[in-house]
Amino acid sequence: MSAPLDVANAEVLVIGAGPAGLAAATRLKSLGVRNVIVVDREPQAGGIPRHCGHPPFGMREFGRVLTGPVYARRLSERAQRAGAELLLGCSVVGIDHVGGIVVTCASSRGPTEIRAERIILATGVRETSRAARLISGDRPLGVLNTGALQSYAYLQHMAPFRRPVIVGTELVALSSLLTCRKIGAAPVAMIEDRDRPTVRRISMLLPHLLGVPVRYRTHIADIKGKQRVEAVTLRRDDGTLEDMECDGVLLTGRFMPEATLARSAGLEIDRGTGGPTIDQFGRTSEPRIFAAGNVLHPIETAGWSWREGRRIAEFVAADLAGQLPAVTRTVKLTPGESVRYVVPQRLVPERGGLTYLQLRVADDVSGALTARCRGQLIMTQPLTSAPERRVLAPISAFDRADGEVVFSFDDNRSATYRSDATCV
Ligand SMILES: Cc1cc2nc3c(=O)[nH]c(=O)nc-3n(C[C@H](O)[C@H](O)[C@H](O)COP(=O)(O)OP(=O)(O)OC[C@H]3O[C@@H](n4cnc5c(N)ncnc54)[C@H](O)[C@@H]3O)c2cc1C
Repeated sequence: MSAPLDVANAEVLVIGAGPAGLAAATRLKSLGVRNVIVVDREPQAGGIPRHCGHPPFGMREFGRVLTGPVYARRLSERAQRAGAELLLGCSVVGIDHVGGIVVTCASSRGPTEIRAERIILATGVRETSRAARLISGDRPLGVLNTGALQSYAYLQHMAPFRRPVIVGTELVALSSLLTCRKIGAAPVAMIEDRDRPTVRRISMLLPHLLGVPVRYRTHIADIKGKQRVEAVTLRRDDGTLEDMECDGVLLTGRFMPEATLARSAGLEIDRGTGGPTIDQFGRTSEPRIFAAGNVLHPIETAGWSWREGRRIAEFVAADLAGQLPAVTRTVKLTPGESVRYVVPQRLVPERGGLTYLQLRVADDVSGALTARCRGQLIMTQPLTSAPERRVLAPISAFDRADGEVVFSFDDNRSATYRSDATCV
């Protein structure tokens, strides 16, 4: 890592040294982009995996199963070997893109200004806090989210609780069971407000094997405790209340993109994802600023974010060489009934770019995903899914779409897949 400069110049500045940002930087260098700088506010590169001391990471990237910290270190070493410059402990606090792009960073060494021709935003996600979840009760110690737990366990080697209640059944909730095991904590229950797990049922073998009871249709009504958490009051859907002794509450899931910078830079923000909108080349509403990784879609695996970072880097390199189509006409992709979001949110009519649209449904669904343009059905695709599961649709199906395409879920199971449909 070289010493930071008061003023630096980059052909491409990558903001965020997680899997997406590091993959993008490595790919840019391999494509011959001269001056690639990656900044991250943390003192070490690697993003979230730095403090996920468990597998599985790295199958796509290194062909083997690694723990998060080993994976993070390898990605960082690869980027540096490729020639990317890493500026760590350096928070980006503003992006000015009127005229040239000028990025302002703050660090303990003082302010730094970086002028860049292109930016890739790869700032990842953050978790919904207790306050934002509107959980009432006392404010004792021991109410954490998964990021804080991982940091206690793997970076500070401390156990913040011994008998927590885990809220949620997303993949990260299961990963937190492994973290609890590592610090010698025995969760007293996992609770889920839906009537089924968010992950596939087979994955719920893990709490079963670890002896952690799972309660569905159950919410936290109250947290009790003066200094530390002493108990929670659980409310079931039928209205019954129950006190459960515990010494901590772990809030899992409900991620949202870390989009503060995107917002303050005036980029268009998607209401469905909470992140910046992009076209199929990863261009935000300011076409010199691209985005990749979980800032676009809360939340994907590290391997997915890594692959997306590489792809977006290829589009950035093409753009620097003047090879991307101009943003003239765009087709708007809009989530309709039972669809929470669609990424990318717009397509330029030219071919190329990402291969798939990524969607999430709002409810458990079984039937068909439909796409309509001016009321005309242009694509249907069988779909059985649940919230927080990745749904893909081929972008090539919309090659000749025009205006706006609305995606909905249709419970007509007889619908068949037609990818050659067009909208005129
Ligand atoms: C608890 C937990 C367990 C997980 N377990 C797994 C697993 O086992 N396997 C798996 O494949 N995936 C797992 N994931 C998902 C995986 O970690 C993410 O998919 C991946 O980290 C996303 O990469 P990213 O680069 O988009 O974002 P991140 O990894 O979040 O990196 C974003 C980076 O941007 C930096 N940043 C943000 N804002 C600024 C700013 N203003 N200035 C400078 N830097 C900034 C952050 O410091 C961070 O380093 C897990 C996630 C969690 C939360």
